[in-house]
Order: sequence, then C-alpha cells, then structure tokens
Amino acid sequence: MLIPQNNLSIIHDAIKDELYEKFKVILAENEFILGKELAQFESTFAAFCNTKYALGVSSGYDALFIALKVLGIKAGDEVIVPAHTFIATWMAVSACGATPIPVEIHPQNWTIDPSLIEEKITSKTKAIIPVQLFGSMCAMSEIEAVANKHKLFIVEDFSQAQGATYENIMAGSFGNINAASLYPGKNIGALGDAGVITTNDKTLYNLALQFRNYGSIQKNMHSSFGVNARLDNLQAAFLNVKMQYLSDWNKQRMTIANVYREKLKPISQLQMQEVEDNIQSVFHQFVILVNNRDQFLEYLNGKGIQTNIHYPIPIYKQPMYRHLYESSNDFMKTNEICEKGVSLPIFPGLKEEEVHYICEVITQYFEAN
Ligand SMILES: *Cc1c(COP(=O)(O)O)cnc(C)c1O
Repeated sequence: MLIPQNNLSIIHDAIKDELYEKFKVILAENEFILGKELAQFESTFAAFCNTKYALGVSSGYDALFIALKVLGIKAGDEVIVPAHTFIATWMAVSACGATPIPVEIHPQNWTIDPSLIEEKITSKTKAIIPVQLFGSMCAMSEIEAVANKHKLFIVEDFSQAQGATYENIMAGSFGNINAASLYPGKNIGALGDAGVITTNDKTLYNLALQFRNYGSIQKNMHSSFGVNARLDNLQAAFLNVKMQYLSDWNKQRMTIANVYREKLKPISQLQMQEVEDNIQSVFHQFVILVNNRDQFLEYLNGKGIQTNIHYPIPIYKQPMYRHLYESSNDFMKTNEICEKGVSLPIFPGLKEEEVHYICEVITQYFEAN
C-alpha cells in the first residue's frame, strides 16, 4: 500500500473529458484574456461565496496584494497577521511597503487568537488578515468586534477554506475585501496558478478591477496605476468545470476528517485542531501534532503513508523576517505546530479503507511508543 498525502490525478481523471472539451473550445475561439469563461467564473464564485462581486486574478498572492492595495495600505502602515500561515499572507503586506504584525494563534483552534490582537494595535494599524487555516475558520465575531472598535479593515485570506462556514456564513464573505488562492492543491484549484478576490463593496471591486489590468477598465484608458494580474480565460474555463464538483469534494474531505477525528481521539499523545460547533471546516489539511516527529514520520513512511508539513519553519524565524521579530516567547503554539505538525493524507478520492488503515498504523505506533 502506498498512500500519497495529496493526489490530484483522481479528481482530474474523473473530469478529464470536460477539461479537454474546454481546452478545445478556447483554442477554437482564441479567447485567452478577459473572456466569457472568466466572467462566468466570477459570477459563479461570487454566488458560491454569497458576495456581490468576485474577481479572478493570477494567484493567491496577487489577490492579497491587490486587496490590500485598494484599501490604501502603504509604507508606514501595520497589518495584523497570524503568526502561523503560509508566508504569502505576510509578503503581500510587505509588498505594499507595510509591516506585518504577527499575532499568536489560539492553542486549540490554531487560528489567530482574537484576545491577543488588541495589544498589537498601534496608531499605524490599518487592517487585520484572518487566515482560515487548514480549512477551518477564525473566530470571526470576535475579530469583527476588535476591527469595528479600532476602525480596522478586515481582509480574509480564505485560500485554504473555499466553502467553509462560520455560523453558516461563507468563508470569503466576512471582510471588506477577501482573497483566496486557487493553486492546484487547494480545495478548488486551477491547472496552474490562479487566485480570486471577493467583496460586497462596489468601490473596492472597481478599484481592484482596474488594478488587475494596468489601471484600465476601458480600452486604452488608464485611470490609475495597476499591474497585470489577470486570471487566464483558459484557467477560468477549467475552474468552471471544477466549481460543479467543489461541494462534493469538500464533503469527501469532511467524511475523511470525521473518521480521523473519531479514530484518533482516544490517542492522548497527539493533538488535533479543534473545530467549534459554529464552524464547518472543509479540511484542506488534516494536521496532527506529535512528539519526536522524525521517528513518527519514518514509521509512517515505512508503512507506505506519505505526509507533509505545513509549515516547518515559523515565518518570524525566516531569513526575510527574523530581523523584525526576536521574541519567540510570543509564539509558542506557532513554534509547536512547526516542530510537531504532520499533515496526514486527505484528498477527494482517498478511500475510506485507506483512512482506516492510516488510523490503525497511527494507533499501533502510539501503543508501542
Ligand atoms: C496557498 C496560500 C496562499 C498563496 O497562494 P498562491 O496562489 O500560491 O500565491 C496564501 N495564503 C494561504 C493561507 C495559502 O494557503
């Protein structure tokens, strides 16, 4: 038995005829930039997130960068970010010339801890980026309360949580403007780099629409500075195929996660991400924390179970950022996840008997160790 941590070929095999068909149509029509498929994707994705607008862009990083830009984030500003996330969340802040201010994650749900945000707010703070980590959701009510009190913008990074809900409200619909990656390995991904912005704010939408395309909405008219961060029509076409399956794929992830949660719960030596009753996670990753990770990974590997680590090095210790943040006492949980975190196999198409096998192997390991 060999079980990969992620396997895109199962979902892609199942829909390959539809994908080939889209490629044929786009090639026949030669409509590559800002075409009908992109417009369709944007309206489908906005409806999915229950927002007024969605805007396809070239990556998750660009989605975050543009969202911050149109809010006016600039040099000298500070933006609150979770200590534990993918580094793109922080770098998008740096790309605006602003400073990412890390806040430690909650010891149980592993998303930004709202009770620690206020002490990091200064006169320079302009926005908070809650990251919906591993498919779960941040405590959005508490974050909204802090943001309202201090008049800060919220930019959700829901790259890992397309379809998740908090109190039955969709991920990607909470912030003033929100950003997600559609990288191939996310819950919904293109066949290459892609990203999306969502918002209910018409002004922000129009600014983002311009910024994505050289500051231009009308051909040959450039009203403001911009970049080229458009989502390819071809990638949008592939995403239109995949959007039909996203809810089913998310349900499969939930089923797998429920088996893991039930079977691994009795093992006192490991920790799992707590998901409160008002949250529906879409389980982008299923991460457990274990002591002596190297030994554990070697054991799993020997049993044909492949794993991954999200992420092995705290961002504040990365060469790019370590000069800014010295005190590691603030980030004990972040340190712990980087040191002990193991992402188990989870993907649509992973068979229930494979999940049971993985749980048995893990149970046996902890009986012996
Ligand atoms: C994947 C990811 C990104 C970056 O997305 P790209 O499309 O690779 O630029 C940003 N934030 C989070 C939380 C992610 O998981």
